Order: sequence, then C-alpha cells, then structure tokens
Amino acid sequence: MEINTNMETKYSIPSEIKCAIDGKCPRCRTGNMFAAPLLSFKSQRMYERCPACDLKFEKEPGYFYVAMYVSYALSVAELVTACVLTYFISGNLESPWLYVFVALAVTLLMAPFNNRYSRIILLYWMTPMFKFNPKIYERVKEEGF
Ligand SMILES: [Zn+2]
Repeated sequence: MEINTNMETKYSIPSEIKCAIDGKCPRCRTGNMFAAPLLSFKSQRMYERCPACDLKFEKEPGYFYVAMYVSYALSVAELVTACVLTYFISGNLESPWLYVFVALAVTLLMAPFNNRYSRIILLYWMTPMFKFNPKIYERVKEEGF
C-alpha cells in the first residue's frame, strides 16, 4: 500500500526511521516537533502543533503521560547497558559506589534524549491515528517547508 501512495507524489519521501531520528512530525515528516536540537540540553519545549501541517501533537489532555512509560523503558535499557559495560571495563565486584555513580551520570546525561525520544516513539509507533499522509506531505512541500 505504501508503495502505491509513494508513486502518487512528485517528491521523494524521506524514510520513517530517518524522520523519527530527526524529530519530524509523524504526519507530514517535515515540521520539527521540538524547538531545540534533539540532543541538546537547551529548552525541552515541544511545539504544540506541527509548524508545517498544524497537527496537534498532544491529541488529548495528558496524552504524554504515556511517554513516561516509554521513557522508563529507555532508562532501564540504558542503565543496564551502562552498568554491564562498567563491569566489563573495570571488573569491579567490590564497591557498589562505582555503579551508583555511573547510573546517576547516565540518568542525568540521557534525560533530554529520553524525554524527546520517548515522545517521538509514542507518536510514531504507538499512536495509530498519526500515520504519514503523502497528500499532506505534498501540500506542505508546495507551501515551501
Ligand atoms: Zn506535520
């Protein structure tokens, strides 16, 4: 089905994964979801609506609470990875403080990443109504985004 819709537009459509990594709107794959660059510690502000296609990202009040669960899963995966790596690098089995320090550092460093990407994962792959729409993509491109 997606092959057919791809052929209808005269623009080459960027891939879903690339647009998710870049933090683009899930419907038009053009407008940015966040005000600041994705890996920065600057403003965590998310646009209320897509600047290109006007999609309202928070589809109902409190919708982004669901992103907390995604963020939790991301954090656990990062902590386990970081602690296993710490074990392989240091071989430490005596002191828990090294692991506590590594866990805290990873949590703080990854917080902006987790915050943004938990919402991106939620909107791209856990919200069926936010599907990519080639017609809107084409319209937005013609408007000059
Ligand atoms: Zn959009």
